[in-house]
Amino acid sequence: MKRLRPNTLALLLILAMTSPTALAQLSEVERNLASYIDAHHDAAIELLEEVVNINSGTQNFAGVAAVGRIFQARFEALGMSTQWIDGAAWNRSGHLVARSYDAANSGPHLLLIGHLDTVFQSDSLFQRYRYLGDNIASGPGIADMKGGDVIILQALSALNDQDLLESMNVTVYMTGDEESTGPGENQALARADMIAAAVTADIALGFENGDGNPATAIPARRGYASWELKIKGSPAHSSQIFQDEVGAGAIFEIARILNSFYQELAGEKYLTFNPGIIMGGTDLEFDSDESRGKAFGLSNVVSQDAIARGDLRMISTAQTDRARVTMERIVANNLPLTEAEFSLSQGMPPFPDSEGNRRLLGYFSRVSEDLGYGEVTAVDPSRAGAADISYVGDHVDMAIDGMGMGGANDHTVNETGDLESMRVQAQRAAILMYRLVHGGL
Ligand SMILES: [Zn+2]
Repeated sequence: MKRLRPNTLALLLILAMTSPTALAQLSEVERNLASYIDAHHDAAIELLEEVVNINSGTQNFAGVAAVGRIFQARFEALGMSTQWIDGAAWNRSGHLVARSYDAANSGPHLLLIGHLDTVFQSDSLFQRYRYLGDNIASGPGIADMKGGDVIILQALSALNDQDLLESMNVTVYMTGDEESTGPGENQALARADMIAAAVTADIALGFENGDGNPATAIPARRGYASWELKIKGSPAHSSQIFQDEVGAGAIFEIARILNSFYQELAGEKYLTFNPGIIMGGTDLEFDSDESRGKAFGLSNVVSQDAIARGDLRMISTAQTDRARVTMERIVANNLPLTEAEFSLSQGMPPFPDSEGNRRLLGYFSRVSEDLGYGEVTAVDPSRAGAADISYVGDHVDMAIDGMGMGGANDHTVNETGDLESMRVQAQRAAILMYRLVHGGL
């Protein structure tokens, strides 16, 4: 039996007066979860301020670990087992994992996803939490996604307060390098353990800020790939261009290819591709790590080299494969005396839509309505970038992302978070987890 403490009762009364019809939809345990989060909302804001004020730009390994230690202590206080996975092998700080495991519970195993790092490095001018009034605060990584991390902690604290956490199978995974995972091989290493955790889980919940609006969540996100085009032409005096022995030159060839990409592929639903840099001429020096370079060429010399690089965003692996076939066909159809080399490498995989994800979104929306917070609808995938949930989507029955803090302007020095949304999302998350594990859906 649950004990109701006097302050809980008082809060329940207040809540009952503010939204009587909504709360009628909640069970007693669910009302207790919601009121715990109300009672601890100010403490959650204090914790948010504390972690936002620790710089944890992805490259600040010590800062990322420091934020990890704060959450680690909090999860341990809930009786969870924790682990810091050192990231030296993939040249990043590391990941925090916290688990609650009960072999006797045959209900679904939940994987909750957060990240400790931000895009604001140690030398950024944006370092401090600042309250702006009207429940809005600014700070580096406040909504993306230290607010989401606090929401995870609040929801689990509420479940623990009701003695429900110890009988749940929950893994919290907070990566230390979501904003900059590193290339190819490092990326596989950096996510291997999280993918292994997903394999043993049934449902994944992502607490990214999504599109910043807590009335939406994300049942599908696009992934990204990067591509590079390298062209060789035959240098000669410009007056001889188009002659059989000179051909078209590298710059015409790269222009043909990019224009054909545009003509044939632009406008396909959920597919975008963007050439972000291009160089051409007689002599190129391109620094691929820095994505910058120098080009030399003369207007009276047929160009010898050209290079372009870009990204590609897709909703499914099948879409990448189709785009690749089209692009490779276009690339192979060379102008006279030119050669083109094209490479496309998958970065973060897509998080494709599925019936399970839509069902989970429906459950989440139902919880929100029962709390009196209204319906939650899907974000258009073309507005949702890639995130860590993308690595696990294929390994679980159901997943949604965007259960984090509302806010605006993330990845800029004007980033803000909506403090009230932290309360709403923590209540929704706690009750959703309770219903998923203990029935009542
Ligand atoms: Zn993020």
